Amino acid sequence: MGLIDSHAHLTFDALAHQVDEVLARAEAAGVDHVISIATDMADAARVLDLARAHSCVSAAMGFHPHEAGKITDADWGLFGNLVVEPDIVAIGEMGLDYHYDFADRRVQQEVFARQLEVATPTGKPIIIHCREAHDDAVAILREGGYAGRPVVFHCFTGTQAEAAALDDNGWRLSFTGVVTFKNAGDLVEIARSYPLDRMMVETDAPYLSPIPVRNVRPNEPAHVAHTARFLANLKAIPFEDFAAQTSANTRAFFGLR
Ligand SMILES: [Zn+2]
Repeated sequence: MGLIDSHAHLTFDALAHQVDEVLARAEAAGVDHVISIATDMADAARVLDLARAHSCVSAAMGFHPHEAGKITDADWGLFGNLVVEPDIVAIGEMGLDYHYDFADRRVQQEVFARQLEVATPTGKPIIIHCREAHDDAVAILREGGYAGRPVVFHCFTGTQAEAAALDDNGWRLSFTGVVTFKNAGDLVEIARSYPLDRMMVETDAPYLSPIPVRNVRPNEPAHVAHTARFLANLKAIPFEDFAAQTSANTRAFFGLR
């Protein structure tokens, strides 16, 4: 069984014009499935088209916290229609970004909570973007009734204590190429002790190219193999076992066919 890139943005400019080549290179690298994430409603239409055209692509959509200040009533109408769309496997990425603060924090919080509320009846997994906002993100998820529900903090870069708090709520964290960086810090130890039967890997392409392709831009799903190899070595297990287990985890978490 091949690897799955559980979080990429195939519709972003750096990749959108070369999707066929990107998917061919992924397949050649042993990456046989990609979950492409939309960050606003125009993007959601594009990821749906992509998923319907390529059996190796699944779609997720939400309002990224960077977009929280720009959402119209029409966007909310579209969101309400798309959450129940069977070709949307997960809702998000959504959450809070207090690092860039591209939108007012109060607005980010309201947009996050409202998405959760609309998504709840679907039972679909939730993809979280959280940067320097751990306590508020956990509080909003818990107030939304999401303790014990399927939630993944994508591109987790927090502390051991924050990772433990997610675990206490039954939530996942997933690993990008950041874990391969020289300054990965806490993240290496978090990954080393993270249960293999909960682990998922991702690129966040076109961003965050892993070592040893750090200088290759844009990042693309084929490169998740480098992150997977790093993590397999870290956990001292054969690469093939790591690939099979993380893919099984990802298929189960997202309900992929
Ligand atoms: Zn992303």
